[in-house]
Amino acid sequence: MNALAATRHDFEVTGLEPVLARSVTVLGSTGSIGVSTLDVIAHARRTYGAHALPVEAITAQSNVEALAKQAREIKPKLVVIGDEKLYRALKEELSGSGIEIAAGRSAVIAAASRPSNTVMVAIMGAAALEPALAAVARSATVALANKECIVAAGSVFHRALANSTASVIPVDSEHNAVFQVLNGEGAQEVEKVTLTASGGPFRDWSMEQMAVCTVEQAVAHPNWSMGAKISVDSATLMNKGLELIEAHFLFALPVEKLDVLVHPQSIVHCLVSYADGSTLAHLSAPDMRTPIAHALAWPRRIESPSRRLNLAEVGQLTFRAPDHERFRCLGLAQDCMRTGGMAPTILNAANEIAVEAFLNRRIGFLDIPRVVETALNDSPNANASIDTLEGVLAIDMRARQLATEICRRVVN
Ligand code: NAD
Ligand code: MG
Repeated sequence: MNALAATRHDFEVTGLEPVLARSVTVLGSTGSIGVSTLDVIAHARRTYGAHALPVEAITAQSNVEALAKQAREIKPKLVVIGDEKLYRALKEELSGSGIEIAAGRSAVIAAASRPSNTVMVAIMGAAALEPALAAVARSATVALANKECIVAAGSVFHRALANSTASVIPVDSEHNAVFQVLNGEGAQEVEKVTLTASGGPFRDWSMEQMAVCTVEQAVAHPNWSMGAKISVDSATLMNKGLELIEAHFLFALPVEKLDVLVHPQSIVHCLVSYADGSTLAHLSAPDMRTPIAHALAWPRRIESPSRRLNLAEVGQLTFRAPDHERFRCLGLAQDCMRTGGMAPTILNAANEIAVEAFLNRRIGFLDIPRVVETALNDSPNANASIDTLEGVLAIDMRARQLATEICRRVVN
């Protein structure tokens, strides 16, 4: 899709001014990606001047204090809190600042519709879908960190993109790496795209150990510092499964050309192999501020505060095949990618519910694949092909209800 179709239009000029003048909206600014995005923007202002990357709007769901602090520092025109009940609290925090304030789900979507050049979609889960579509509808450049919205509604996304001149620049590190390696070329001569996975905190754990692991152990990622949901997804390898589906949609790559390799150091983010036997890789230190800076400046590059790669220090880069027996979520996602239709929607919705139940200590770690698999088996509509937003949201909602019931059954 537009990750490939994005054009280089008027940026062949020499100065960085057109890039630095771009205005940015950050959806999910208090999360791990949101904070890193604001850090990249603050760094650009220190490096290039206070005028760099003006911020149109920032949004968060419930952390009023953090959001207000960000607003005072980064000076957006608009600040939105998703939880309507917190409007007053946000207003108090920002009184006298002159910053416009809004609250509620529709205000988050409206923030994405405001006229900024780039919208960073860093909301967690399928909740990002409608705001992301609002940015696509007005033909913004969409810096897409969120993967669940593509997995849940790939066909809806495709259609929205076809009806707009929006560009999608992937921010997920592996996809941003593939985007950089392909460099605007089509994927026709590509033989295989390999996404790397760190293997997560349980890479070398036995099933018996994983069965009794704690939430704290599951969210303690060895290489990346991320939000709780994606950290659990990394521990189950569902994250890599979602990413395969994301790559399938973003780069229009057929299922059989997509592969996963476990690479504990998280230095090589992707490998792209071509028909002539060449394989190109993308390397960087595991720091999301690198793909974020790339997405904000593409097709130019700006200074980023991210850690630099020191291979002499890293010493060794190792690779191995993933273990499908211990990490069943990866295979479940691959099956859903092959099935297509609504299977990825159901997979994603059931996984969101199962991960939430695990984080709330209602189910065990190994129950996550069980809940997802049962939800898929018990959904009669997995093969359906639906490409309307309403249709997808209805399937998503039903899958969430089903997964919630299954979670209840698991503990009884
Ligand atoms: P996070 O949990 O740290 O932050 C999520 C942000 O979204 C917060 O600002 C929160 O207030 C907001 N939010 C949560 N629920 C919302 C809702 N219902 N409506 C509106 N806003 C809501 O998450 P994160 O780790 O920053 O990840 C964000 C997205 O980026 C996820 O889709 C994740 O898969 C993807 N991603 C993250 C990383 C990473 O390093 N953290 C890497 C690659 C991709
Ligand atoms: Mg990733």
